[in-house]
Amino acid sequence: MNFTKFPRRNYLQGATPLELMPALTQALGNDVNLYIKRDDLLPGSAGGNKTRKLEFCIADAMEQGADTIITCGAVQSNHARLTASWSAKEGLDCHLILEERVKGSYKEDASGNNFLFELLGVKSIGVVPGGSDMMGEMTKKLDELTAAGKKPYIIPGGASNAIGALGYAVCAEESMGQLNEMRLDIDHIVVPSGSAGTHAGMVVGMNGVSGGIPISGINVSRPKDVQEEIVYKLALETAEKLGVKTGVAREDIVCFDQYVGPGYSLPTDSMVEAVKLFAKTEAILLDPVYSGKAAAGLIDLVRKGHFAKGSNVLFLHTGGSPALYAYMDTFR
Ligand SMILES: *Cc1c(COP(=O)(O)O)cnc(C)c1O
Repeated sequence: MNFTKFPRRNYLQGATPLELMPALTQALGNDVNLYIKRDDLLPGSAGGNKTRKLEFCIADAMEQGADTIITCGAVQSNHARLTASWSAKEGLDCHLILEERVKGSYKEDASGNNFLFELLGVKSIGVVPGGSDMMGEMTKKLDELTAAGKKPYIIPGGASNAIGALGYAVCAEESMGQLNEMRLDIDHIVVPSGSAGTHAGMVVGMNGVSGGIPISGINVSRPKDVQEEIVYKLALETAEKLGVKTGVAREDIVCFDQYVGPGYSLPTDSMVEAVKLFAKTEAILLDPVYSGKAAAGLIDLVRKGHFAKGSNVLFLHTGGSPALYAYMDTFR
């Protein structure tokens, strides 16, 4: 794959670790060897997957002469935190529109990512009710800032457009390189599937390097068929943009929706168990909204015998641990 024709900043410092989780493998009965790709350790304040996408999105903004970034997310958005982080580092203003997806969940003095937004110097935070037209809200902000003489640029929620998804095509290529070097034959990759850029980018990248490893997404909000269509559409756009000749087949996109629970960002027992198990066995911090639910799916699929005995499964850790501090009561 050729990424050189796209504007890109230099936010990665080499490959993130890809390693076995021996204690977790043993705790789950040794039938499946569990590996992890540590994108929670990416640069950017407190790490996480949005750094890979922002490397392309913020570069695009700067190429267009922007001095201000506008983006949106949920009240504990990791994406908002990392956009604020990289904007600060680049000397760009950052404005956030937060969607209160769970009524009453926004608290100005909340901990977790919310605390970090202010610390990272965001210029404004607007809070709108769940179900709002987020692009419409961001466009209003864009008009307001343009009228005030700024040059604003909108990055969509989760940086999940075809520009941001390039970052996960990079991750698939990087992972395949590591696996070849380790001579490690992975049978299956499990990723969280939210705003879809991570999942879509991984599928495109895997096809782009002819890696042939099936990828499953664990949903954090939507039903299976709805999410699969969203991922598929973004994957097609990304493959087109990147010129991946093999394209993407509909059956390359597989999602599981059994681990969402009552809804986006709402805790489940299996998420709590997964967060505690990863912490106690591997000293790896997950998050309550994404990687915790994805890990709950991984654990359940292992226990149910979904993966063949003796197979090697790679879990993509997308980060998010700052959100834990906004959920302490859930874990105590
Ligand atoms: C945004 C996010 C995800 C989901 O990635 P998408 O590209 O939005 O699907 C997963 N984990 C964490 C920690 C995130 O912040």
